[in-house]
Amino acid sequence: MLHDPLPCEDRVGRLRSEFPETGAMLIFNEKNIRYLTGFTGGEGALMAGPDWLTLLVDGRYATQARAETRGAEIFECRNRIEGIAAAARRHGVGSVGFESPFLSVEEYLNLKEALPEAALRPLPKDFGFLRAVKDLGEIDRIREAARISAEALASLRGMIRPGIREEEIALELEYRMRRGGAEKVSFETIVAAGANSAFPHATPGRRAIADGDCVMIDYGAVWDGYHSDETCTFFVGRASERQREVYRHVLEAHDRAIRAIRAGVSCGEIDGVARSHLAGEGLASAFAHGTGHGVGLDVHEAPRLAAGREELLRAGMVVTVEPGVYLPGLWGIRIEDTVLVTQEGCEILTRTSKDLTLI
Ligand code: ZN
Ligand code: ZN
Repeated sequence: MLHDPLPCEDRVGRLRSEFPETGAMLIFNEKNIRYLTGFTGGEGALMAGPDWLTLLVDGRYATQARAETRGAEIFECRNRIEGIAAAARRHGVGSVGFESPFLSVEEYLNLKEALPEAALRPLPKDFGFLRAVKDLGEIDRIREAARISAEALASLRGMIRPGIREEEIALELEYRMRRGGAEKVSFETIVAAGANSAFPHATPGRRAIADGDCVMIDYGAVWDGYHSDETCTFFVGRASERQREVYRHVLEAHDRAIRAIRAGVSCGEIDGVARSHLAGEGLASAFAHGTGHGVGLDVHEAPRLAAGREELLRAGMVVTVEPGVYLPGLWGIRIEDTVLVTQEGCEILTRTSKDLTLI
């Protein structure tokens, strides 16, 4: 049975203790609003005072907000800036910390005009860290998303053969994830064959799979709001000596990073473990992205596993490990798993075997 996620009241309490504010906090990011109130509607603004919580929505979302939201009063307004100004005046707010990446310059200027007396300032940048440590209910949901996606991929492996196009595989995979219970896909599925696999973020096209291609598939499902993220690189028919060798190096970088993960280690250190292994094999410049990222209500969220990141991993964080080597004009290999950080190590949540696979 699935655990329920922690009640939103606990999360709002944590918000208040981790971001002490004398005035009110203004939250616009839809995933943060969902996390803090349970409201799944696409638009709104959440105002959190020291002892009050107001969710502002327009008429389209008022009924939904009343049904889904716990612990917040619902305030229906036609324009969110006017609504914020009215709520601020009602609660006598003197200062407002706002989520700056989600407020346009125009809205900021309008808000300033509507609240001439209030001090407006951006909330600290690491606000995303509020969601980084997952509770049991959230972990269950990510695990379920990973299970659905791996089953969908396993069921269509037989389709990956010479002649089929990248976009056909992507479409079928997305369909099977939805049929398997996913509410949507985590992101646009990447299926990249041959030279296309050398683009870390390729879009599936009309290219037909050929014998001897490597096929990179980066995919995931969403279940009850939570994402999974996994990349498999398969070889069709055969793999060259060089491909086998590079696959071994990428897999070793992936395995070493996973073995290094545990609570208390910095995100930058994990990136360094994967990066230094590939550098030692002369592949430093072919690995041109970070080693991983947090996964949850967003497919990319805090923390980032990248060079120089000093944040420490904590038990309950869910992060990806995804080293890759991309050789322009030839091919690319990425191997990605999503893992749950524990005190002593980590648990791999994504299900597909990462041993070199010929299909
Ligand atoms: Zn991915
Ligand atoms: Zn990823």
